[in-house]
Amino acid sequence: MTARIIDGNALSAKLRGELAAKAAELTAKGTQPCLAVILVGGDSASAVYVRNKVAGCEKAGIKSLKFEYPQDAAPADVLGKIAELNADPSVHGILVQLPLPKHFDEKAVLEAISVEKDVDGFHAENVGRLSQGQEAFIPCTPNGVMEMLKSIETPLRGAEAVVIGRSNIVGKPMAMLLTAAGATVTVCHSGTRDLNFHTRRADILVAAIGKPKFVTGDMVRPGAVVIDVGINRLPDGKLCGDVDFDSAKDVAGAITPVPGGVGPMTITMLLANTVESASRAARKA
Ligand code: NAD
Repeated sequence: MTARIIDGNALSAKLRGELAAKAAELTAKGTQPCLAVILVGGDSASAVYVRNKVAGCEKAGIKSLKFEYPQDAAPADVLGKIAELNADPSVHGILVQLPLPKHFDEKAVLEAISVEKDVDGFHAENVGRLSQGQEAFIPCTPNGVMEMLKSIETPLRGAEAVVIGRSNIVGKPMAMLLTAAGATVTVCHSGTRDLNFHTRRADILVAAIGKPKFVTGDMVRPGAVVIDVGINRLPDGKLCGDVDFDSAKDVAGAITPVPGGVGPMTITMLLANTVESASRAARKA
């Protein structure tokens, strides 16, 4: 059996086309969606992510503002910029690229972003709202995964879903979204005793570990939907996921590739949250 490939580039292109139409409509009515991105330090992976986010905005007709700070920037300067952007009605989304340098209190920075402009969905209030099923900005990566599952009509109600990883930005919100959709969710992590026991029961297996090719074909239930969130750089410079694609594709029913899977969907959902924030602002105005 060879798995169906869930093409994140194709799905992104379709969704971004729809978002561009919405952005144009809002712009015509006087509210051009605008995303402000803050980058602190010279981490090369972060710089690439920011570049891709800015380029994604441009293509969709979303205005983007980029603010760069050196590695030794004073946290007060960044917090001051966030306060300024919070107060600016022409800005609808504020994103601080993580990770921040060690002398920053990451939590304090994320909490400084206005809940209404928190398009990454990392503010504690948005996390709480999501957990209670209230309207919230949903973190982009797990939201993109849900769109991918929807695109292949994966049955979620009653499905056994296993998420490997419990980070605040991927694993935990992923588990919340799958639970809300009616799946029975198991969250595995570095302390899980018998990982294979869990993964082999999964109808839906989401890998968000940060270890190249960690999930091998023998860990996958035949026919399962395998979502690979991982982005790892190999010594030869190539990207690979947390799933060993070659062995897993022969067992899974559907699988996401890396690159070209969850990665582009993450940016697409960021654009979607920015457009949504702009349309909420337009409605209020
Ligand atoms: P993280 O380091 O914060 O969390 C990793 C999780 O994996 C932890 O909860 C840990 O308990 C678990 N883990 C580690 N070793 C394990 C083991 N042996 N068995 C079971 N669980 C184990 O990472 P993160 O921020 O959640 O990111 C995970 C991966 O997803 C990384 O490769 C990251 O680059 C990638 N990522 C991709 C996107 C995207 O847009 N596609 C977005 C965010 C993160």
